[in-house]
Amino acid sequence: MKVINEMELKFRSYSQNESFARACVAAFCSQINPTLDELTDLKTAVSEAVTNCVVHAYPIGIGDIIIRVVLYEKAVEISIIDFGVGIKDIVKAREPFYTTKPNQERSGMGFTVMESFMDRVDVRHSSNKGIIVTMYKELGQDIAQAN
Ligand code: ATP
Ligand code: MG
Repeated sequence: MKVINEMELKFRSYSQNESFARACVAAFCSQINPTLDELTDLKTAVSEAVTNCVVHAYPIGIGDIIIRVVLYEKAVEISIIDFGVGIKDIVKAREPFYTTKPNQERSGMGFTVMESFMDRVDVRHSSNKGIIVTMYKELGQDIAQAN
C-alpha cells in the first residue's frame, strides 16, 4: 500500500498532553477524509494508549512519549512509544479488566478499548526500554458496508 504522508510527535508525559496528542493525530488523519465515526475511533484509541504512558510508564517522574502516524490511501497506522518501565506480562495486561492499579479507579479496559476501535493492535517491548503500541485501522469500511 502506498504511503501518503507520515509524521512524528514527541512530548512529555504530562496528563495535560493527552488532549493535545489526540487533537494532533486527528488533525493529521483528517487529510485522508475519515468519517466522523472513524475519527472518533482513532481519537479514543490514541487517548487510551497515551493515557497508559502517562499513568503507567513513568511511575517516578515524567518521560518522553513519541507518536508516529503513517497515512495510507485508505488506512492509518499509529504507534505510541514510551521509554518507561515496560510490562511484565503483555498477554495478561491485554486481558479485559486486568490492571495493576485497581485502587486508582483504573478498570483495566484500555487495551480492550484499543482493540475494539482499531483493526489491529500490537504491543511489544522496544529494543532499548519501554513499550511500543502499534495500531492499524482501515478507513472507508463504513461506506463500503452501507452500499
Ligand atoms: P484503564 O485503561 O481502564 O484506565 P489500565 O490502564 O490499568 O486501566 P489497560 O490500559 O488495559 O488498563 O492496561 C493494562 C495494564 O497494562 C496496566 O494496568 C499496566 O500495568 C500495563 N500497561 C499498559 N500500558 C503500559 C505502559 N505504556 N507502560 C507500562 N505498563 C503499561
Ligand atoms: Mg489504560
